[in-house]
Amino acid sequence: MLVCFFVIAVNGQDDNARQDTSWKKKYRETHEQVNDLVHTKLDIKFDYAKAYAYGKVWLTLKPHFYSTQSLQLDAKGMEIKSISIVKGKSTLPLKYEYDGFVLQIALDKTYKGGENYTVYIDYTAKPNEVKVKGSAAINDAKGLYFVNPNGEEKDKPTQIWTQGETEANSVWVPTIDKPNQKTTQEFSMTVPDKYVTLSNGKLTGQKKNGDGTRTDTWKMDLPHAPYLFFMGVGDYSIIKDSYKGKEVSYYVEKEYAPVARKIFGNTPEMMAFFSRITGVDYPWVKYAQMVARDYVSGAMENTTATLHQESAQQDARELVDGNNWESTIAHELFHQWFGDYVTTESWSNLTLNESFANYSETLWDEYKYGKDAGDAQNFNDMQGYLQSGSDKKDLVRFYYGDKEEMFDAVSYNKGGRILHMLRNYVGDSAFFKSLNLYLTTNKFKAAEAQQLRLAFEEVTGRDLSWYWNQWYFGGGHPKLTIDYVYDDNAKKVHVIIKQTQAGDKVFRLPIAIDIYNGATKKRNQVWVENKIDTFSFDYTSKPDLVNVDGDKMLLTEKKDNKTLDNYIHQYKYAGNYLDRREAIDFAGRNIGDPKAWELVKTALKDKYPGLRNFALSKVDFRKENIKKEAEPIIADLAKNDPKSIVRAVAIGLLSNYNSPEYKDLLIKAVNDSSYSVAGNALEGLSKVDPASAMTAAKKLSAGESKGKLTESIMKVLIKSGTEADFDAVAKAYDKMPLGQEKFNLTPTFCDLISKLNSTDKFKAGVDAVVKFRDGIPEQYGVGPVIDNFLKSIVTKKEAAKNLVENKTTIQEQIDYVKGKIGGERKGF
Ligand SMILES: [Zn+2]
Repeated sequence: MLVCFFVIAVNGQDDNARQDTSWKKKYRETHEQVNDLVHTKLDIKFDYAKAYAYGKVWLTLKPHFYSTQSLQLDAKGMEIKSISIVKGKSTLPLKYEYDGFVLQIALDKTYKGGENYTVYIDYTAKPNEVKVKGSAAINDAKGLYFVNPNGEEKDKPTQIWTQGETEANSVWVPTIDKPNQKTTQEFSMTVPDKYVTLSNGKLTGQKKNGDGTRTDTWKMDLPHAPYLFFMGVGDYSIIKDSYKGKEVSYYVEKEYAPVARKIFGNTPEMMAFFSRITGVDYPWVKYAQMVARDYVSGAMENTTATLHQESAQQDARELVDGNNWESTIAHELFHQWFGDYVTTESWSNLTLNESFANYSETLWDEYKYGKDAGDAQNFNDMQGYLQSGSDKKDLVRFYYGDKEEMFDAVSYNKGGRILHMLRNYVGDSAFFKSLNLYLTTNKFKAAEAQQLRLAFEEVTGRDLSWYWNQWYFGGGHPKLTIDYVYDDNAKKVHVIIKQTQAGDKVFRLPIAIDIYNGATKKRNQVWVENKIDTFSFDYTSKPDLVNVDGDKMLLTEKKDNKTLDNYIHQYKYAGNYLDRREAIDFAGRNIGDPKAWELVKTALKDKYPGLRNFALSKVDFRKENIKKEAEPIIADLAKNDPKSIVRAVAIGLLSNYNSPEYKDLLIKAVNDSSYSVAGNALEGLSKVDPASAMTAAKKLSAGESKGKLTESIMKVLIKSGTEADFDAVAKAYDKMPLGQEKFNLTPTFCDLISKLNSTDKFKAGVDAVVKFRDGIPEQYGVGPVIDNFLKSIVTKKEAAKNLVENKTTIQEQIDYVKGKIGGERKGF
């Protein structure tokens, strides 16, 4: 699963804030396998009006090893009509107990280990009525979701989709809902004939029923875990590609059919790439990807049937800036190997799924777009972990409050970096051979982290317990201070590496120290393994640079005490993405030094667009000489850079120059096909000519806009607009899909609401924010943050009230927004 973290909310979460710490004593053991699933045959029919599903399921099981006469199944919030055992062509009713969550079934006799039997259950699933024990209805683990089931919301399609991970598919099908179970399946879904369906495996039959419905049968002949079951229903265009004769398809809303290949079209090449590096050809019968409305959880790797949230559907103009969903496409696809083919045996070991999916984003970028792109992805993911503030957690955790907490920056981002360092340590060839061994040894089974270690040990012949103990079964990361002492008399350089992280833990780090004289590099492999290590190297002439962690692969926070001259050399000769980035960063912090500015100026033409933008962020416009010298370079980037994301930033910066020529350029660029160029131009224009910006923003708000442009239109309208412009802003806000972008804009939108006089407009604005808040499942922790935005409206209105004579209107507005803060969260 790819969790689209709401950044503010996640940073706000902290285990220390939790009052109940009883989880610290609760060891999360792997679920005992008493009975094993063998095959799941399901007939299911949907009742849109009630948001129910009527199911009949035939579960074939067998005792795992020991004989048993009982069967425990997960079945959440169901109405159970009957349970029986299948005996040839007849059935025999079974006794059972049901508490709304778990079915305890007494079998007709004792079954021996490995002896198959089939249980039949007739039931109704009521996903909207599932209750957590002694609590209100839940919104975040309904398993089965009906979107606009009765067509009441205009402009919104009617859809059904499921989300199983972690243990929610047992809301719509009784099963053993644990990741260490695997089953083959045959799902027959009866749906209105006008819709298409998607499920795991192959579509083997379609039958019209004569009552306006149709029954589609999907078959999975290879076993997989219940949390990977999937059903999707809706009005979709299906665009078909293929990989080695297997169907690869993209389910998108009809208006996105023309751009579906631009979004998903690299999938077959990714399948070939991942098949090649793992040495395991794509294992499943087909691969489909579907986009769903109101799906907040990013994306989910249901076997052969990945589900993506709406953000995947980008229009042609958004795609001008690049496909920002491609990493997610890689992530979910790599799960088809790591997660679906070999599955974590417990949520404690979740990183066995997520570290690989996360790392696939780096691997794909490196392969497809070059080493800089891969390194940039690796660096960004590392920052995601470092900024998450969760460095105390172990990667594999046997103690946690709720299993959903495992889906964090440790399991994902840190796990990915641990794989990256491991790859550097053992080498590419051993790394990928070990992955192959892990996959082939554990295929169609569940695994734990030690099984990954054993695969690496068998391939490399090395004992790797230290690596697993340090990184998988321990927390934290090294914080390094690196100093250099050059002794010209002795002709020696001493490299002093201090580990400054809190606590007793000392990391063992195999790294390269590269010593440069001019373009010549001499590499030294060393082990950092003490609180303080000193490494001494002889030289004949004083080195221009000593570069610790020459491959820039370490997961670390470091204070690297190099000089500006060292960094200038590093930028030019060391050459990795991070070598260059560090040099730009240092120069940017010392921009007053002419040599530092020279470095930044060089970096404005870096071969990697992300670093050109990073260098642009370091231009200091308060310094006249820099401002002047940068002008022709920025103007050139604004007009001619091949990447729209660089042109966008450069165009925005032109507003720092009071030149009519640039004003014309900004006015023109407001209509650029790239949303980021248009958005930055609009904001730039608002600085040099607010009136023109306002005119442009009003005109643009009437048309289509998304992403950066929507954000910029709203900013300009909010800054310079009048109350009359509010409807346009509110409409644009309401149309934005649930996600980070909308979340980021919400404070600005609330600021605008606080300035409204019209109570009707005011209420409409507040309603739009509340609708957004209530559409996000509670687990994201966003609700209270949005309530704080709403409270800021109250504060501003209270202040405004003091300045007017007639306080009635403002008081009505204050009361209205107060009534919307907090309260019971409703799901979608
Ligand atoms: Zn994932």
